[in-house]
Amino acid sequence: MSTIIIQHDDCLRHDPGPKHPESTRRVEAVLSGLEDLKGLQKLPAPLATTQQILRVHPAEFWAGITSQEPSKGISAIDADTFLSNGSIDAALRASGGLCYAIDQLLAGKALKAFCAVRPPGHHSEPETAMGFCLLNHVAIGARHALENPMINRVAIVDFDVHHGNGTQAVFEHDPDVLFVSSHQMPLYPGTGQADETGCGNILNLPLAPGDGSKAFRNTWRKYGLPAVHSFEPDLILISAGFDAHQRDPLGQIELQDADYHWITDQICDLAIDSCQGRVASILEGGYDLQALATASRAHVQALSC
Ligand SMILES: [Zn+2]
Repeated sequence: MSTIIIQHDDCLRHDPGPKHPESTRRVEAVLSGLEDLKGLQKLPAPLATTQQILRVHPAEFWAGITSQEPSKGISAIDADTFLSNGSIDAALRASGGLCYAIDQLLAGKALKAFCAVRPPGHHSEPETAMGFCLLNHVAIGARHALENPMINRVAIVDFDVHHGNGTQAVFEHDPDVLFVSSHQMPLYPGTGQADETGCGNILNLPLAPGDGSKAFRNTWRKYGLPAVHSFEPDLILISAGFDAHQRDPLGQIELQDADYHWITDQICDLAIDSCQGRVASILEGGYDLQALATASRAHVQALSC
């Protein structure tokens, strides 16, 4: 069964400016890295529906964000989060793309999916867009999945170098969702201490600046992967950020492409045991274009095994 790649040209319309690291070229780099891989089925991302968004974000919040989209130029939400003309559609394609990917998996049309979309989502809290993120796509995807009678528990694995504060905020009182995150500390956004455990459903695995493959793999092997296994999820979602790569300019973790293959492979093994192999992944961060291309390629290769 082929792995599906979800994409849409609208994701190139969100343009936070020429000096911003979250550039339109990121998705182009990812797609170029996947170009010659066999067995991938590319599908266009639909726009998320209002119903899908409102399972995570209040209507007033989303109305406020959409009202700030400029007809030209750039509008600032905070010091590093911006809107251009087209940003709203880009964010809607990203959330809608993950929901669509999940539907494909639950309909038995594919086992694995990767959404090559932007802007990223995991910093967006229910009522606060921040950290380059407008909508929290992985949270919207998890809530969408839980609407399906087949799905009682969703595990979200986040290996972006930054803590997914938004995802934690959405689910910290929701025992149907497990959120496991490895991230550098100290680093933006400052949350993600090991003692932030939600209702027992949040597992934060902080890494120190300079940590590399060994610390990353040991941490996941000892804590993260056993937690996902014990949770017995019906679906695993991945917040796939590639900014813990050694080439990335925003983090100081020293991962290599092979580490992204390894963690993905481990997650896929767990998925076979607990959820019939179903894994849907979505692009989060990753700001070195070369690393983004090679690391996301390693990730998708492992997804497709
Ligand atoms: Zn990040």
